[in-house]
Amino acid sequence: MKIISINAGSSSLKFSLFDMDDKKVIASGLFERIGIDGSSYTIKYNGEKIKTEAELATHTDAVKILLDKLVTLNIIKSLDEIDGVGHRLVHGKDKYKESCLITDEVVNDLIAFKDFAPLHNPANVLGIQAFREVLPNVPMVGVFDTAFHQTMDEEAYLYPVPYFWYKAHGVRKYGFHGTSHRYIAKTISEKLGRDNLRIISCHVGNGGSITAIKDGKCVDTSMGFTPLAGIMMGTRSGDVDPSIITYVMEQEGLNAKEVIDDLNKKSGLLGLSEISSDMRDIVSAMDSDDEEKKAKARRAFLKYTRTVTNYIAEYYVLLGGVDVICFTAGLGENSEPFRKKVCENLACLGVKLDSEANKVMGEFKKISSDDSTIPVYVVPTDEELMIALDTLKLIS
Ligand code: ADP
Repeated sequence: MKIISINAGSSSLKFSLFDMDDKKVIASGLFERIGIDGSSYTIKYNGEKIKTEAELATHTDAVKILLDKLVTLNIIKSLDEIDGVGHRLVHGKDKYKESCLITDEVVNDLIAFKDFAPLHNPANVLGIQAFREVLPNVPMVGVFDTAFHQTMDEEAYLYPVPYFWYKAHGVRKYGFHGTSHRYIAKTISEKLGRDNLRIISCHVGNGGSITAIKDGKCVDTSMGFTPLAGIMMGTRSGDVDPSIITYVMEQEGLNAKEVIDDLNKKSGLLGLSEISSDMRDIVSAMDSDDEEKKAKARRAFLKYTRTVTNYIAEYYVLLGGVDVICFTAGLGENSEPFRKKVCENLACLGVKLDSEANKVMGEFKKISSDDSTIPVYVVPTDEELMIALDTLKLIS
C-alpha cells in the first residue's frame, strides 16, 4: 500500500511517498516557486536526486508532473498504486479535533478559517484542489497542525481578555506543530513501553513550540492564537508585552501590521543578535575574536535558551513533575550547545546531561546521564510519516 504525504505552501509543494508495508519513504521532493519565474522541482529516490527547471504555473501543474515522474522514473508502475493522499493542513480552529477524510465541508472550512492562517489555509486548499483534479478517485485525508492541541482545557486555552472576544471572534490559544508533538509523544511512549507518561516535547526549529503532554494528550502548549507566541524563535519574538506594539507604532511611524511583521520576521535570534536567525551562526559568533559580535551572539543565545527553560519549568509544575523531556526539529535534533544550556538551566530539577551522548545529531538518543532525575531524549520528528499513518488509518 502506498500513500503520499503533501505539504502545500503558497508557492511550494513538498511530498513524500511512503510504502506503508515497511513505513519507508520511497521518494520525496519539493516543487518550488509555483506561479513565480524560475520554478523547479527536486525528486529524491533510490539514493539519487534530480533537480529540473519546469514551468509550474499552478499547483495542478506541479501535481501532474509529480505523478508523471513517479511513473516514468519507475518509482511506481501505475497511478493505481497510490491508495491515499494525506495533506498537512494548518488551521482547523476548534472544529477539527483529529484528522479526517477530506470532503467539501473540510475545504469550505479551510476557506472560512483563512483569517486564522492567512498564508497557510488558502495554500492547503490549492494542494487539495490540485490532487482532486488529477487523482479524483483517490481518498484524501487532512491532518491539522492545530488538532492535537484541542485537548487543552479552558484554563489553558483562554486568554484573560474580554470573554466576548473568544465567543464572538474565536480569540483563544490554538497551538501549532501539533502533528510533530503527537509524533514525539507516540514515539517516546513506544520506545519506553509506557502510555502514561508526562512528557515535555520541545519542537525547536526555525519556528518553535513547547508542549506539555499527559497520557498522550496535550495539556498546554507555548504557541497561541498564532505561531508568534511562546518561546523566542529564529525571527519571531515569542511572547512580548502587547503594549510594545502601539508604542513602536508611534515612535517609528508604523502601522500595526508592520509592527507585527517585524515581530514575525525581524525579531528572535535575528533581531536580538543582529547577526543571523540561524543558531549555527550564533554559536560560531560566540567564539568570535570580535568582542562586540561575541556579545551580540551571547545575548541572543542566552535569551533564547532562557525562554525555552521558562516554558519547561512552567510545564514541569503544570504536569506535577515530568517523566521525560524530548528535543526535536532543527535545533532540538542538532544543536549540542542549545541543549546543553537548556539542561544546565534545569539543573535545580535534577536534570543532568551526558555530554558525550549530547553530541548526537538527528538520531533518537538518550542524552541525559543515568543519575538525571528526568531522562532527556533527542527524538527526530517525522510529520510526513504521521500524516501517512493517519491517512492509512482513515482510508482502511
Ligand atoms: P522549520 O521550523 O523551518 O521547519 P527546522 O526545524 O528545519 O525549521 O530548523 C531550522 C533551524 O534549525 C535553523 O534555522 C538552525 O537554527 C537550526 N539548525 C539546523 N541544523 C543545525 C545544526 N546542525 N546546529 C545548530 N542548529 C541547527
